[in-house]
Amino acid sequence: MSDRERIRTTCPYCGVGCGVVASTDGSVTGDRDHPANRGRLCSKGAALGETLIDSDRLLHPLIGERRASWDEALDLIARQFGDTIARHGPDSVAFYVSGQFLTEDYYVANKLMKGFIGSANIDTNSRLCMASSVAGHVRAFGEDLVPACYDDLEAAELVVLTGSNLAWCHPVLYQRLAAAKEAHGTRIVVIDPRRTATCEIADLHLALRPGSDVALFGGLLAHLDTHGLCDRRWTMDRTTGFGAALDAARSFVPSIGNVAALTDIPADDIARFFAWFATTERTVTCYSQGVNQSTAGTDKVNAILNCHLATGRLGRPGMGPLSLTGQPNAMGGREVGGLANQLAAHMGFAEADIDRVRRFWQAPRMASRPGLKAVDLFDAVLDGQIRALWILCTNPADSMPRASRVRDALRACPFIAVSDCWPTDTSRLAHVVLPAAGWGEKDGTVTNSERCVSRQRPFRAAPGEARPDWWMLTEVARRMGWEQAFAYATPAEIFREHAALSAFENEDGHRLFDIGALADITDEHYERLQPVQWPLRRGASMAGTPRLFGEGETSARPLTFVATPYRPVAVPVSEAWPLVLNTGRLRDQWHTMTRTGVVARLMTHRREPMLDIHPTDAEQLGITETGLVRIESPHGTTTMPVRLSTDQRRGEVFAPMHWNDSHSSAGPIDHLVGAAVDPVSGQPELKATPVKVEPVAPLWRALLLKSDASKPEGEVYWSRAPVEGGHAFDLAGLSELPDGVDSRAWVLRLLGASPGAELVVYADPARATFRYASIVDDRLEACLFIAREAAALPDRSVLVAALGAPLTPEARLTLLSGCSTAADAEDAGPIVCACFGIGHGTLCSAIAAQELTTVVDIGRTLRAGTNCGSCIPELKSLLRDAQAARPELADA
Ligand code: SF4
Repeated sequence: MSDRERIRTTCPYCGVGCGVVASTDGSVTGDRDHPANRGRLCSKGAALGETLIDSDRLLHPLIGERRASWDEALDLIARQFGDTIARHGPDSVAFYVSGQFLTEDYYVANKLMKGFIGSANIDTNSRLCMASSVAGHVRAFGEDLVPACYDDLEAAELVVLTGSNLAWCHPVLYQRLAAAKEAHGTRIVVIDPRRTATCEIADLHLALRPGSDVALFGGLLAHLDTHGLCDRRWTMDRTTGFGAALDAARSFVPSIGNVAALTDIPADDIARFFAWFATTERTVTCYSQGVNQSTAGTDKVNAILNCHLATGRLGRPGMGPLSLTGQPNAMGGREVGGLANQLAAHMGFAEADIDRVRRFWQAPRMASRPGLKAVDLFDAVLDGQIRALWILCTNPADSMPRASRVRDALRACPFIAVSDCWPTDTSRLAHVVLPAAGWGEKDGTVTNSERCVSRQRPFRAAPGEARPDWWMLTEVARRMGWEQAFAYATPAEIFREHAALSAFENEDGHRLFDIGALADITDEHYERLQPVQWPLRRGASMAGTPRLFGEGETSARPLTFVATPYRPVAVPVSEAWPLVLNTGRLRDQWHTMTRTGVVARLMTHRREPMLDIHPTDAEQLGITETGLVRIESPHGTTTMPVRLSTDQRRGEVFAPMHWNDSHSSAGPIDHLVGAAVDPVSGQPELKATPVKVEPVAPLWRALLLKSDASKPEGEVYWSRAPVEGGHAFDLAGLSELPDGVDSRAWVLRLLGASPGAELVVYADPARATFRYASIVDDRLEACLFIAREAAALPDRSVLVAALGAPLTPEARLTLLSGCSTAADAEDAGPIVCACFGIGHGTLCSAIAAQELTTVVDIGRTLRAGTNCGSCIPELKSLLRDAQAARPELADA
């Protein structure tokens, strides 16, 4: 394949920002030359080629249900925004955008809203992801700066991972860290209420009480000072506020005993962690959503930063705080000012900043104060303050806390426009829907968690009439009368302006975000641009700057300690709501599944949503793994399967954030999640909602296979996963099966049987076993198997293979009556290795039978773990369990 057919681009999922080499035939590999991943990809990245499916894409603009031309749709948006602003003022409109925007999309959206419409009502789903890190950085560093870089993880002797399931959420960084540990024995501490896959490489796991991170790091600060382990010279030279921060910490955690009482962590473990931190110069602390998604998120970030400032541990190889962004371009969004409380290019709403940006943009109507942050923004939509809203590249109907209330807000809003690649639960509520170009079709830049700017390059044509977001935004801006300011013809033009703004009146370098060296980049250079880290000032070499605050760099501003008084989670558990619901990511899914939910093999790791609960809690509540659970909070209710897991702390449950209304009746878990926010960052507390959980005994279970994705109706739990040639639904009956005439109609509806299809029935009422197949032209169109217990349902792999294929007379005979059950068949179990489809049962059998003791053994025997490596933590866990059961294997 020629180089012209192999395009270097960037993965569109997490903030690691891996380089990808994509071929025009849709195959993808890791880019060996990209500094973030050096050729590695995780399971999601490796399956990117399988997401390039045009069949379900939005292909044309829609006004209501009607197909419209681009001109009609853009004219309508411009008119609705213009009229609303004229009648109700600029704060009556808003944009809600995304950390999956490219920087160029983000720049144009922010400029339009803040410089021309004259409101700062543009916020982003990054508010849910890393707003607390941004706020913490600004308080400590005077600017939203990430001092460390990925190489520091490999150079460190101690890596502290707090609120970060690195193995599943930033898998390639996990692989780099695991390799470093293997090479030189890096010590790793994981701080997380749950025992996650990341713990497989941990030397110490601190399962702290949710929300108590400030107590732990405040205690560490007090400990460092008490034992004379702070770098007082460094703090005197470079910092301010040490005394007040220390006093605050001492006021609530003067001793390890106090820390233990507030965090639930055994005192010995705290002492070990404090001793390791105190004595290890090369220490990196990584933090992510477990820290950020909290009503004390900003204080948690500053409590961590305080410990690095107190020891002078930043700016040198192998040390520093390293916030890990969830999304691919959360950092780029921060650079352009995509959050409602930022202006642009790391400037805020100080008068001098507003004036500087106004002059640079030649803006007629600058926003003069911060806009509404995400939770407040949707509240303002509901109460009628915001009357026109454009949502781009995100799905708040599923991802916002109190999702039902957000949907009510969208229904109540006089005008909603949505741009996306696929229909979503949000786009279904819009007045205008615009088809957006997606990954592989878009052209621009992204910035990853270590300040590295990389290109996303197109390698396929956008389907139908899909267009990039920056183009839609400029077209609306032009229609609103600002042709000249939005006369961009290419993303390169937008990028040059963004780079120039970063350097504008920044000759003294007081803003460290400065990419002025790229302000005059030619179109050809932009096309060829290699990954590069900022700061990148005019005249600087194009090598970039790996870490900030290094030796010899005398930042004009002092670095600031922040006093972080301890406060617990916003809403405590109570008799009525006795369990804490934590929400988060799974290994193979991304956000609300609009992309990963179409890839069959990514759905095999977890094919349905499940609530994780400690076995003792489950027993006390009468919950068994064969049943379902009803989860209720003050904001909503849902029903889903359950998984008993000692990885959970007692009193706490965990549910994945991914499932939406198109994939499961359990719908978005955010229906249940409260909207208490951090007072500084506005980030919602997505990891600590009090709930109650009770068992639900389904009256029957069923497996439905069919070619279309239409949802089952009625009192039934369902979850859908794509399979070869169609979709497989897991069903659980919450009411009795219909009987008599109703029963046939119900079955035909569920099957979605074509008119004239032959319905084959096998019924054994004594065993409550019912099987139906819809056959058209001697091919299996759909089938439905119903049984009292899930274990009595058939082995789905046989049926999936039969879906749509010609049926031989023998197969026809045995299809319904001779099917082996999942329990009878060799039970491969849930898939662990998605690349090679190797299941939990298969792995356990092989480990036991062949006495496998290492991941390499498993790879040699079954290939599991030898491709993307995302399953390696789970393989290690299986080996550990096997060795615990048979200690002689460990000694072998
Ligand atoms: Fe993409 Fe995985 Fe790399 Fe994240 S770690 S950027 S999801 S390949």
